[in-house]
Amino acid sequence: MFFIFGTRFFTWGSERTSGQMRCQTCGALTNFVVKKGMRFLTFFFVIPTIPLSGVRRMTQCPNCGTRYQTA
Ligand SMILES: [Zn+2]
Repeated sequence: MFFIFGTRFFTWGSERTSGQMRCQTCGALTNFVVKKGMRFLTFFFVIPTIPLSGVRRMTQCPNCGTRYQTA
């Protein structure tokens, strides 16, 4: 019996920024989606077991999906 471990970045949250921001990738001027994310050590690549990082805040462009780390 053996186990498969991996790491995966999980994100959650779908608030919108109060102000509009310009996306540096696609150039859209829009309200970005604010997400929180955390890297986990996963069991069989799907079950998060051990958090490897603190919670990171990021904003995501709703147009092209590019994420920008904010803190
Ligand atoms: Zn974009």
